[in-house]
Amino acid sequence: MARPTPDAVNEPFRRPREFERGCAEPGCAEEGLYPAPLSRDRLREYKWYCLEHIRAFNKAWDFFAGMKEDEIEAQRRFDTVWNRPSWRVGTGPKGFDDIHDDFGFFRDGEAEPPRQRPQTEEERALAELELQQPVAFEEIKARYIELVKRLHPDANGGNPENEERLKRINEAYARLRSLHA
Ligand SMILES: [Zn+2]
Repeated sequence: MARPTPDAVNEPFRRPREFERGCAEPGCAEEGLYPAPLSRDRLREYKWYCLEHIRAFNKAWDFFAGMKEDEIEAQRRFDTVWNRPSWRVGTGPKGFDDIHDDFGFFRDGEAEPPRQRPQTEEERALAELELQQPVAFEEIKARYIELVKRLHPDANGGNPENEERLKRINEAYARLRSLHA
């Protein structure tokens, strides 16, 4: 990528600019100014490109390549609903607090006598998806996609109760996915 260099004319003895990092494109000598995720599974890890090569990257990048249509929709919902800041522990919507309160993890003050858990974490998450053990992960995933479709704002006119439900479902699915990973 050619860069206009009026400074080089006006200040012939100016030191060449030192880059914090170079463009990740092999053979490119430009500065890496624009972050690009390493992969779909590593969205918070970056390589850095110059403007020209970040454009090329963005053009080639198809986040959803290889995903089925249902998975794409579920992923979209997952991203938009799940990544909201209101999901920090202890500050989330009612459903979220209810789940954790039963464990007593986030209470202040003296230690309480240990409680008998009525269910395991996995069973609770399954119940949120209207499932019971034993169940294969493929079945969990299929149910998750089905519920996301059913509760999608486009399908129900943005019913707030459904949105709360969808948050709990996303939470449950995230747990189950990590347990089955
Ligand atoms: Zn470059």
